[in-house]
Amino acid sequence: MNQDARVVGGGHGHAVVIGSSIAGLTAARALAHFMDRVTVIERDRLPRGPGRRRGLPQARHTHSLMTAARQGLEQLFPGIGEELLRAGAVHVRIPQDTLLLGPAGWLPRFDTDLSMLSTGRDLLDAAIRDRLRADPKVTFLTEHDVVALEPGPQDTVTGVWARGRDRTAPDGRTPRRLIRADFVVDASGRASRAPQWLTELGYEPPAQSLAGTPTAYATALYAPPIGHVADWKSLTLMAAPGDPRTGLLHPVEGGRWSVSLGNADGTAPPADHAELLRAAGALRSPLLHDLLAAATPLGPVYRCGPVTSRWRHYEKLRRWPDQFLVVGDAFVALDPAHGHGMTLAVHGALVLDHLLTAHGTAVGISHRLRRALAHRLAPAWRAATTAQPAPPETPAPLRARLAGGYAARIAAAATTDRHAATLLLQWQQALAPPAAALRPHALRAALRPRRDPAPTAWPPSATHGQDAARRRRPAAPAAPVIGVATVSRRTRPAGSSAHWPAPAPAGDRNRP
Ligand SMILES: Cc1cc2nc3c(=O)[nH]c(=O)nc-3n(C[C@H](O)[C@H](O)[C@H](O)COP(=O)(O)OP(=O)(O)OC[C@H]3O[C@@H](n4cnc5c(N)ncnc54)[C@H](O)[C@@H]3O)c2cc1C
Repeated sequence: MNQDARVVGGGHGHAVVIGSSIAGLTAARALAHFMDRVTVIERDRLPRGPGRRRGLPQARHTHSLMTAARQGLEQLFPGIGEELLRAGAVHVRIPQDTLLLGPAGWLPRFDTDLSMLSTGRDLLDAAIRDRLRADPKVTFLTEHDVVALEPGPQDTVTGVWARGRDRTAPDGRTPRRLIRADFVVDASGRASRAPQWLTELGYEPPAQSLAGTPTAYATALYAPPIGHVADWKSLTLMAAPGDPRTGLLHPVEGGRWSVSLGNADGTAPPADHAELLRAAGALRSPLLHDLLAAATPLGPVYRCGPVTSRWRHYEKLRRWPDQFLVVGDAFVALDPAHGHGMTLAVHGALVLDHLLTAHGTAVGISHRLRRALAHRLAPAWRAATTAQPAPPETPAPLRARLAGGYAARIAAAATTDRHAATLLLQWQQALAPPAAALRPHALRAALRPRRDPAPTAWPPSATHGQDAARRRRPAAPAAPVIGVATVSRRTRPAGSSAHWPAPAPAGDRNRP
């Protein structure tokens, strides 16, 4: 146990945060700006530096910190982006540095203000944790499981009950003990037991909305082929109408690739590298398969899911204990395909920071906090649920169907129109203001008569596109094809290793 009873002046008392993942850590930072002290209670033992832990199984899967998440994190922890880059995280401009196969074809590559910071989750969490460990107001109480809330008079919460680990005890845990608090934040993730805790205290549990089709993921790390050179950094194969499978290749620290396949067709995700390679071969473009066939697997294939998007409507509950808040995945959890989970967590902390400072007290603020959080999370929920078909048992309402149809037209136009491509990407990152969809260039792009679907075989890349393959086509038809830029499963002899050519001249790159 590592608890410190220090009280630093300020007059707002003690806050408890349940869970030390991204929502809990960022909420703790926001609370530390305001409260006298903050205790983060975590059921896991926390590693020093980047390290695996049981409570965060999704850390093995590809994670990207999208534009809004990175900006928000910078507000809470100034300089953290640079710190992560120094530790090996990779800055990827979108779509400039990305080969992105959208629902209707490859997107052109051009400059926008969108980007992602691609890093292993363990590195990201360790960097944030270390910042908090250096904050004298913040204390971590590890290997403790919060099991209940302590009610106070007149609809308040005055603490939490927790049990620690004790190998000598018959059930391996210490007896319950009360940790008093003036403000409690539940950031315990998808498996949050807040609905049960509230019910035990006589409150209604929240209604919940589910959206999208349950999606399962498989992820593995790879070392790129020796000598790999490319004019792109990451590869994204999005789902398309009638084909819910996705593929991602993101660069992470240590010069490695983190590769994830998603499938929403109800089949089990790949369990080993052979299965993963086969599944990659069934995607809409052969490129990911071909890259993996030439790369070296590092460690096992991890599986997760199926998961879906879920909103627990805490904001709608009329009766609610004051000084208690639910944030992060515990409140709204999105299908990981959208890459918004961490953005929502960071934005939740910013809402908390802003309202506590504006209100001047943590008392009597819970209703406003829940409403403000819901308001901030709604665009990401809309973006995620518009992009995904509704489950068959809950047919989408007319408004959602119209929005889906419009989104499909924008996706089709995005293969040739930069405005449409930018809008598609902003939707994906939940950054588009609602009016953006109705701006003249978006409307023009959506209303333009549709052409035949764009071809999906060749990405806009000088090193891995059609021209690269054509340039390197051997003069003599019988010559063996080894060392081509785009290693096609149709041309590469089985078992051969790929050799990647130098990039094309800059002027040749990034052609739409
Ligand atoms: C396959 C996959 C890929 C993803 N990719 C991305 C991505 O690219 N970009 C992105 O933004 N998001 C991504 N996400 C989503 C992201 O992982 C989550 O949104 C984010 O981790 C949620 O953070 P959280 O703090 O709310 O909850 P969690 O990360 O689930 O953390 C909950 C914490 O609470 C602790 N805890 C639980 N119960 C208790 C208790 N009773 N007492 C004490 N401690 C407790 C747990 O040990 C854990 O540390 C992905 C998710 C998955 C599954």
